[in-house]
Amino acid sequence: MIEINDVHKRFGPVEVLKGVSFNVKQGEVVCLIGPSGSGKSTILRCINGLESYQGGEIRVLGQRVDNQQRSINDLRRQVGMVFQRFNLFPHRSVLENVMEGPIHVNGEARAVAEKRAKSLLDLVGLGEKINAWPQQLSGGQQQRVAIARTLALQPKAILFDEPTSALDPELVGEVLQVMRNLAQEGMTMIVVTHEMQFASEVADRVCFLHSGNIVEQGTTDRVLGNPQEPRTRDFLRRVL
Ligand code: ADP
Ligand code: MG
Repeated sequence: MIEINDVHKRFGPVEVLKGVSFNVKQGEVVCLIGPSGSGKSTILRCINGLESYQGGEIRVLGQRVDNQQRSINDLRRQVGMVFQRFNLFPHRSVLENVMEGPIHVNGEARAVAEKRAKSLLDLVGLGEKINAWPQQLSGGQQQRVAIARTLALQPKAILFDEPTSALDPELVGEVLQVMRNLAQEGMTMIVVTHEMQFASEVADRVCFLHSGNIVEQGTTDRVLGNPQEPRTRDFLRRVL
């Protein structure tokens, strides 16, 4: 579903992705791990067309990700993204936050968007909060709204960029549980996370990124349980 082949990305003279390759099949969960500054966010942003890249190729459902605005809009409909900071609209209710994209991006009828938004808010455990304002919710609840908002656009895959890193520790579990449920229902996901317990339970495969290179990738059991590369071992020793 997502093919990343020898992708190079520079910011000015600095190469931050130095030939990254990995694939994600439909229904797979791939966790991207690695130290801060290794390029994890940049690769997600390239996949979603938020950043351009200079070499190699990214394909989503067979279609090349390039800088053509029209194909970028199509792409964003197919690949959702959930960020560390949820950025809900502060002056819209929870329900309106989730309806916004389907109505304004996809041109859906209000009634249709509202029905799906309500059922998605139920799915993330916030059926009782549809009329609340974002600032009345905890960080974990806001992130669950953000996940519902992404799902409302009916993406074929979702990219998560450290979705629990901004949360108080006691709120992390409820967000991971929503993600675990999505994975179980067959959603294709790429997850950048430092939550190794989550990765070991949910990921099918793990890619370890270091200084813009994937230095090790494989099945979750293999990479987390029996890492071959010294840099992977080092990293895991520090985060586990
Ligand atoms: P990670 O998500 O793994 O922490 P990033 O993908 O955010 O890493 O960053 C990878 C490298 O690219 C870092 O060295 C970072 O400083 C650099 N970088 C990221 N975004 C920009 C930008 N907009 N301009 C210049 N350098 C950037
Ligand atoms: Mg990052």
